[in-house]
Amino acid sequence: MKIPCQRSIFGFFLVWLASLSFASAYNARPKLIVIIVIDQFRGDYLERYRDLFEEGGFRLFLDHGANFTDCDYNYANTRTAPGHATLLTGAYSDGHGIIANEWWDSQKKRMVTSVQDDETKLVGVNSGAPGSSPHNLLADTLGDELKLATQGKSRVFAIALKDRAAVLSAGMSGDGAYWLDRRTGMWITSTYYRSELPKWVQDFNDSKRREKYNLQPKDPHDNIARATTPAPRPQADFEELAGSTAFANDYTFEFARELMTNEKLGGGQATDLLVIGLSANDILGHKAGPDSPQVESMSVATDRQLASFFDFLKQQVGLANVWLALSADHGIAPLPEVAAKFRIPAANLSPAQIRSQLNELLSEKLSPGKSTEYAKALDYPIAWLDSQAFAALKISEEDAERDVGEAMLHTGLRAYYTRAQLARGDIPNNETGLKYLHSYSPRSGWYVMGVPPPFTVGTAQGTDHVSPYRYDTHVPLAFYGIPFQPGAYRTHAEPVDLAATFASLLGIIAPSHAIGRVLTEALTAPQQEHKHATEGSR
Ligand SMILES: [Zn+2]
Repeated sequence: MKIPCQRSIFGFFLVWLASLSFASAYNARPKLIVIIVIDQFRGDYLERYRDLFEEGGFRLFLDHGANFTDCDYNYANTRTAPGHATLLTGAYSDGHGIIANEWWDSQKKRMVTSVQDDETKLVGVNSGAPGSSPHNLLADTLGDELKLATQGKSRVFAIALKDRAAVLSAGMSGDGAYWLDRRTGMWITSTYYRSELPKWVQDFNDSKRREKYNLQPKDPHDNIARATTPAPRPQADFEELAGSTAFANDYTFEFARELMTNEKLGGGQATDLLVIGLSANDILGHKAGPDSPQVESMSVATDRQLASFFDFLKQQVGLANVWLALSADHGIAPLPEVAAKFRIPAANLSPAQIRSQLNELLSEKLSPGKSTEYAKALDYPIAWLDSQAFAALKISEEDAERDVGEAMLHTGLRAYYTRAQLARGDIPNNETGLKYLHSYSPRSGWYVMGVPPPFTVGTAQGTDHVSPYRYDTHVPLAFYGIPFQPGAYRTHAEPVDLAATFASLLGIIAPSHAIGRVLTEALTAPQQEHKHATEGSR
């Protein structure tokens, strides 16, 4: 055996020393960050159902984590796509560009979704529909910054039933975004990410696991089953069958576990990121309303599902190596009939009726005797305009949007902000003005944002969200992990603070347009953080 010379022993010693210092720096960072975004999980649910929660689910945040009880979105367009984009970019729509779930595209002369991308195709399903990508994002995300900071060593994934929730959370550089084909219940992706499904996703889809979610007769005392509404119909599409039930979240967590195992998340050299969107709570909440026994039951079921997923994380990577965050993309208005029961003025409105009323008023004013569709779509309270119809009359954007806004006042809306006005930053210097400034995006064509009376919703049945009011803006924001000092924090917080806080803790650059603050009041002192990390890594 050859004895190594003194110099190479010294070299080895240096390498060993370097690896030691890397390990100790690494200890302050987790192996994995998991962000759970529950669609429509309003900020008050954590308190309202606290006594029904058991150990290990929401209580991991409530009893052992840092819980920001007063977190609100500071914008008016409280929808799913903007919400997810906001959480991960740490910016509002004026930064990330996602203004709504869908908008009118005047070039294509149709509504387009926030993630639909004609340059891509769906992968995993035979469909003529275009695929999805984050091509409309104007800002990068926490995951993108992790990728840049580690030169690609961090892996970033996002999953949800809804494509917009998965795609916008995964950012531009995400390794994968998976969502559900509504009809078949298969997990799919798009050519933006890869040309074929990985084998483990194919196997998951082939294993026909969705079949067990073709609902069985329900025990009304079973919390999970109680949250379900549809009767068993094996032929119905998956979303119709299970989309509004706790089974859909089971299915999402089942897929998350499979993803963690197969992609070995938390097992690499750098911090990985997984964003899990739970869409079923929103689908149910629209029908049943926030004060219903169904939503209570669903929240209890979500609690148990979280507990079992966190147990899995414990076994896979150890909770000392994970940072967790919990939030929601928006809240929800009470069912108008429930609000009305307490003499609070409330109403279900029909967007189709409001739109035709708007078009009648505008036709009378602008083209008497000729009815024209000036408002192409109305996603109450936002009107998407046909710029070409106005251009044919040589009406400028400024004038067109003002005309629509004035007509809106005759249909019951309280006030309005035009795209042109928001683009100029011409808003009243008050809290409401700021909310609308944050809602602006240059991404879509002409539009007018109406200000709805509170407790009015733009759906003929059930309830909705997309207002600047607290029932729509209030969401949970809670953290668990070594850097966080457990407690309830009643200081002002916004969902944009999530990305800023994680970026600071990771020692990386915050996303390009991030405006949130670092939630310093909930952070342990750095020495303590290091001590905990060292203990945690043993
Ligand atoms: Zn919704």
